[in-house]
Amino acid sequence: MTQRTDVVVIGGGQSGLAAGYHLRRLGVEHVILDAQTAPGGAWQHTWDSLRLFSPAAYSSLPGRLMPLQPGETYPDGRHVVEYLADYEKRYELPVQCGVRVDAVRRDGTRLRVEGDSGDWRARAVVSATGTWTRPFIPAVPGRREFSGRQLHTVQYRSPAEFAGQRVIVVGGGNSGAQIAADLASVAELTWVTRRPPRYLADDIDGRALFDAATARRRALDAGRTDTGGVASLGDIVAVPPVRAARDAGLLRATPMFSHLAEDGVAWADGTTAQADAIIWCTGFRPALAHFAPLGLRGTRGHIATVGTCAADEPRLHALGYGDWTGPASATLIGVGRPARDAAREIAELLRA
Ligand code: FAD
Repeated sequence: MTQRTDVVVIGGGQSGLAAGYHLRRLGVEHVILDAQTAPGGAWQHTWDSLRLFSPAAYSSLPGRLMPLQPGETYPDGRHVVEYLADYEKRYELPVQCGVRVDAVRRDGTRLRVEGDSGDWRARAVVSATGTWTRPFIPAVPGRREFSGRQLHTVQYRSPAEFAGQRVIVVGGGNSGAQIAADLASVAELTWVTRRPPRYLADDIDGRALFDAATARRRALDAGRTDTGGVASLGDIVAVPPVRAARDAGLLRATPMFSHLAEDGVAWADGTTAQADAIIWCTGFRPALAHFAPLGLRGTRGHIATVGTCAADEPRLHALGYGDWTGPASATLIGVGRPARDAAREIAELLRA
């Protein structure tokens, strides 16, 4: 069955909802398709102890402040899921759950969005599929030889299952630091980072990251010197559990190993460490496989864009994947502005 609408938004996480909010305000007919059966996007799958790196008020989508979580300055993942579910309901956003989009193709004056339960013909498409479904693990020699357990950030839930085990956590970003802090007092932890961990000053948090990303985009747009953006501040927000583990001396980082062996890892100087499990907190790539039929130009898994609009397809917008789709656009507070800009551009396109 093929249905018609003006705009299909693919993905009903925070980015898809922000797009829906602005499309609705502009009176643009749209539908939001999401592969999962429940609201909340990737936040449904984060580990139990995860804390946002910004207070609630600085983790809000357009139109509605995230309420405080009682007793917590930095809300947890469950609180975000509840907030997104409420947001979807409050603004009556037309989300269809349990619909996976496999491909987007050109189809005359429209784009054809092929889903697992039917197709849509739309005048424009917003892709907001996030990165959670494309975990990235670097190609380190010996990865197949290791006989212990290997998992990525996306599979980590809680420290209980690693109690008493020798665990290697790889990655010097927020996920690596938070999971290392989670495990530090229950497991025999080795925390491995490519460069020494760079903590943001304790008195700054995700608000500063957003400001830095915005200042960088403004500087680049105005042809001024690159401010370095978020990277200039550090990699790790010292949320309370991370700060506590660091201050207790439990978070000592070791440089990256050179390869894996059957029973653990080894460094170039011959040092080895045995391990029961390796947790790769090594990031994500954008989930853009559904664009394949469009043959869009791009590098490093990104597509070429002007703002959020695909450089090769003016009817297509990419939202929420990272700074390349708007400053801090892969954050709750940052996605609002690029979502608004994308919705305005689409409304203009539909009027033309
Ligand atoms: P997602 O939340 O991943 O949503 C995408 C949706 O698209 C999903 O529901 C998925 O089912 C659906 N989808 C995917 N592919 C398809 C398809 N082919 N067809 C149909 N549906 C599809 N940000 C902050 O602001 N503060 C923080 O403290 C913070 N901490 C973070 C901690 C971690 C560990 C991580 C990984 C990220 C964190 N972020 C934080 C970043 C960011 O807010 C999240 O990555 C966010 O989930 C991105 O939202 P999204 O809507 O773009 O993608």
